[in-house]
Amino acid sequence: MRIILPYQSKSCCNIFIDDLAFIDEFIKKIEEQSQSVFYLVDKSLSNLPQYSHFFKDKDCFFVEADESNKSLETVKDIYHFLLEKRADRKGFVIGIGGGITLDIAGFVSSTYMRGLSFGFIPTTLLAMVDASIGGKNGVNFEGFKNYIGCFNHPEFILVSDNFLETLPEAEFLNGIAEVIKYGAIYKPDILTFLIEREWEVKDRKKEAIDFIIENSVKAKVSIVQDDFKESGLRKVLNFGHTLGHALERLKMVSHGQGVAAGMVFAAFLSLQKGYLEKEEFEKIRHTISLYKLPAFIPDASIGELVKGISGDKKKAGDKIDFILLKSLGRPVIQPISLMEIENALQNMYKHYS
Ligand code: NAD
Repeated sequence: MRIILPYQSKSCCNIFIDDLAFIDEFIKKIEEQSQSVFYLVDKSLSNLPQYSHFFKDKDCFFVEADESNKSLETVKDIYHFLLEKRADRKGFVIGIGGGITLDIAGFVSSTYMRGLSFGFIPTTLLAMVDASIGGKNGVNFEGFKNYIGCFNHPEFILVSDNFLETLPEAEFLNGIAEVIKYGAIYKPDILTFLIEREWEVKDRKKEAIDFIIENSVKAKVSIVQDDFKESGLRKVLNFGHTLGHALERLKMVSHGQGVAAGMVFAAFLSLQKGYLEKEEFEKIRHTISLYKLPAFIPDASIGELVKGISGDKKKAGDKIDFILLKSLGRPVIQPISLMEIENALQNMYKHYS
């Protein structure tokens, strides 16, 4: 078992990396120590024989991992489940699943009876490197993503790359998009690794996966530790997300695909402003293409993209806080006007369509 980042500060909890047997043992200890343990579990895992032992004879609520279920209705259903099971403040909740399940589990645990202790077992790459870390919990509301929520850390995060053996390719690539983000905003070595060890990563070889998980986790913890409530530095984690979220809404692309195209655009803006060198921009674009993520969304009109972006949460007046790169690994937050965004989109379309 390896413990990475045993932070005992408000920035994070202990994060353990090991195999499924270790997770079994760990859970047993929690069950011995706690009066009652409740499991909030991604439903798709319950159909996979590899994981059935986790759920057998346990108090489980199965979450259908769909954005439409990341809602107050699901939260209410889980409160009812906990009530029926007579859960009280001595109860412990374990969330097992991807980002959707963990975001809901963290919110329910933080609010039921003013808060139960909880732990996370992320089962997608995206949840391992991103969603499980940083203490943001919540659900969507009236079509707005993650509008209702709270900041609160789990007691532990248990990571096992064994879960990736059953993860569909498209979901794996969604996680890779966030790994590429850490390479762009924090540690450029990650991009080099993704390029040089492309096939080991794509084949999900243990050593390669361990490298990307460990380095991504360290990047995220390091960024959130000084800005738990996202008043400044932490915003750089939104690199690629402004256009990414617009594309998710407008084109129904996955989060990873939206962020990938959004990162290329943010890098292009950085290039235009004279911050990023051409080779650095190409390195980001090349890595995104290598992993079959879209470096460009051809079938979106500039008008609809600008309109989509202008609905962004981070907008102030006719400007939007954009995350740009001064160079690889050096992000900067800058207000950019909608006009400038439109011009940059036009230029990018001219160069790359
Ligand atoms: P997800 O939770 O929807 O899971 C993706 C799919 O993979 C689902 O169909 C799920 O059933 C399936 N799945 C999960 N684990 C599996 C496994 N081991 N084998 C086979 N199938 C498996 O998606 P996600 O990408 O993990 O998370 C996306 C969510 O995370 C979004 O709602 C996003 O808002 C949230 N998020 C939160 C944070 C945060 O800081 N809290 C950060 C990033 C993203």
